[in-house]
Amino acid sequence: MTAEQLADRLRISIGDKAVVTDPDILNSHRNDHATFCSAGTPLLLVRPASTAEVSEVLRAAGEAGVPVVTQGARTGLSGAANAIDGCILLSTSRMNQILEIDVEDQVAVVQPGVINADLSRAVLAKGLFYPPDPSSWEMSTIGGNIATNAGGLCCVKYGVTGDFVRGLEVVLASGEVVRMGRRTAKGVAGYDLTSLIVGSEGTLGVVTEATLALRPEPEAALTAAATFTSAEQGLAAAAAIMAAGLQPSLLEFLDGATARAIQNYRDMGLPSNVGSLLIAQSDRGLRAVDDVAEMARICTEAGAIEVAEASDAEESRMLLEARRLVNPALEPLGATLVDDVAVPRKRLVDLLDGITAIATKYDVQIFCPGHVGDGNMHPTVVFDRDNPAAEERALQAFGAVMELGLALGGTITGEHGIGKLKRQWLEQELGPVALTLHRRLKTAFDPTNLLNPDKLLHPH
Ligand SMILES: Cc1cc2nc3c(=O)[nH]c(=O)nc-3n(C[C@H](O)[C@H](O)[C@H](O)COP(=O)(O)OP(=O)(O)OC[C@H]3O[C@@H](n4cnc5c(N)ncnc54)[C@H](O)[C@@H]3O)c2cc1C
Repeated sequence: MTAEQLADRLRISIGDKAVVTDPDILNSHRNDHATFCSAGTPLLLVRPASTAEVSEVLRAAGEAGVPVVTQGARTGLSGAANAIDGCILLSTSRMNQILEIDVEDQVAVVQPGVINADLSRAVLAKGLFYPPDPSSWEMSTIGGNIATNAGGLCCVKYGVTGDFVRGLEVVLASGEVVRMGRRTAKGVAGYDLTSLIVGSEGTLGVVTEATLALRPEPEAALTAAATFTSAEQGLAAAAAIMAAGLQPSLLEFLDGATARAIQNYRDMGLPSNVGSLLIAQSDRGLRAVDDVAEMARICTEAGAIEVAEASDAEESRMLLEARRLVNPALEPLGATLVDDVAVPRKRLVDLLDGITAIATKYDVQIFCPGHVGDGNMHPTVVFDRDNPAAEERALQAFGAVMELGLALGGTITGEHGIGKLKRQWLEQELGPVALTLHRRLKTAFDPTNLLNPDKLLHPH
């Protein structure tokens, strides 16, 4: 089947407007946000509007032997949604309906293209809460969140996307539609295929519907923010907050370099000798005031230069502002390579020390913001992209951070996924037997390697 015949077949089955061949539009859909990953030139972009249409696309692609890359909002940070030469890009943008919000059972049923924030606002209007809140929540889709098992700021208390996925409808590479999981809070029938699809980065099937668990709306959160002269003090305070059983609903850390970059970008009143900044929240209703006071006391005891406590939601928002400014503050400094290592919390000091050594060894700048409550750091290598030698050193430092994370008993990726960017480190984390199992599972779901074939696993 030629490309033109494939496009014609799809125009008949899913409609003229749902099949895009305009080179400019195709070009604008080649990449996600991982600027360092190569992307191929797609053959077509398709925008199916239903499960049946997704099934049609996969059947046609299978018959033509054309690979399919599923795309949500392309906010991914690992190149997982990048085009492959000659592929079909399958966008879920038209499958954006919230099908049901069940207040009694506390579940939502959604199509994959629903934007995370739209779902969060819709359930909030009914007194419910969908906790997974990646910082990209205003852009990223539920399908993409599921396929990357996205985390977020409130994971430290509520868990990641996968903790809220009860059941899925998935279209397999064969075009068959399979339902997996359940709607009920409990259910143990058979292998947990739902969990296998969560985090599978579009390599095992296309998610066309998701049944998600919800929780009652929490109380408004109150916030404490503390500055320290060293990273160690900030990390010690974070460890003490967790150990005290305060259940923070957010616990974010910025190392001194990141805090100073933010202060240079916008005056947030951070002292010039800042060595770290810790932001903590409690959403435990009437207990929140006491929680925040206790968090502040812990920070003071750990040697904080200054501790601010918010007494209402507006003040809380202002204290969180510094965390939100990480990306805009680092962007003007150069090109960035964002690591995503997670280590046991008690190894965080070793991680920070090791990162300092890596920065010196490779003569690069590494900024270290992170979700400290989850042990998940985003060491960000910043360098001059016009300098090939600097780029090479940055790539080496990027890899060295992952090796350090593994050596400390952690993982190379806490939430951003493997995609194209980290494939070469996957075996180091999984080991050969688990990697072989991965390949067998891929073959069981997708025997002809049709779905996102060069992502997550290295091609043979
Ligand atoms: C500013 C910014 C902040 C971010 N903050 C966070 C954060 O706090 N936490 C975090 O975890 N991530 C974060 N990310 C990364 C990114 O937003 C997440 O990985 C997100 O889940 C991707 O969703 P998406 O809709 O953009 O998916 P895409 O990037 O389009 O796709 C991601 C992967 O999912 C697959 N996929 C998409 N839809 C489907 C589907 N329906 N079925 C099967 N596979 C599918 C794709 O093939 C690809 O492998 C951030 C990114 C940016 C740009």
